[in-house]
Amino acid sequence: MKSIADDVVLIIKSDANMNDVASRRNIFVMLTALGKSNPVILESSYDTTDCGELQVCAGADNGIFFIDHLPSGICIKSKLKESLSVAYGILQATRTRVVKTEYISCPSCGRTLYDLQSTLAKIKAKTSHLTGLKIGVMGCIVNGPGEMADADYGYVGSARGKVNLYKKQECIKKLIPEDEAVDKLIELIKKNGDWKNAE
Ligand code: SF4
Repeated sequence: MKSIADDVVLIIKSDANMNDVASRRNIFVMLTALGKSNPVILESSYDTTDCGELQVCAGADNGIFFIDHLPSGICIKSKLKESLSVAYGILQATRTRVVKTEYISCPSCGRTLYDLQSTLAKIKAKTSHLTGLKIGVMGCIVNGPGEMADADYGYVGSARGKVNLYKKQECIKKLIPEDEAVDKLIELIKKNGDWKNAE
């Protein structure tokens, strides 16, 4: 490995279901010990036909390396057409490359004060082109504001069928009727100069 030229791109390949995080980490350890900083691409292949399983497996196998800023690129191979978007999802989740709007949403529970699933779908439909923006969609004010602490904007249930809107951690509008709140959120994003028209 000592003789590898500095401009050679290394590809670390991993086959389906290998669970080889430790052995791949060893390669990074060896490169560091040898003073090598070659670009490294992680290539992982999966035989699943379930997109959720691909997300979980590819995220578990690769995410940790991007959190540690070790690789330069990722290649996810599978029979699924979603392979590329799964790779982008890993880059976005690890803050390596931001390619889409990020949503922070609670799973909902007995405290949820509005129809969270359909509201999240509505908000996504209107804001998915706002690349880089983080929007929190939370069911209640008991835990919502804390759980979306690093969101740019927040949509939080404040009473049955009523919503509070946040800019960062600041509550800007209170007790908006649920059927008006998505439009008010868009207004708030526009007012603060973070809106752009979809291409
Ligand atoms: S934010 Fe509120 S509604 Fe959502 S899961 Fe947490 S406690 Fe439940």
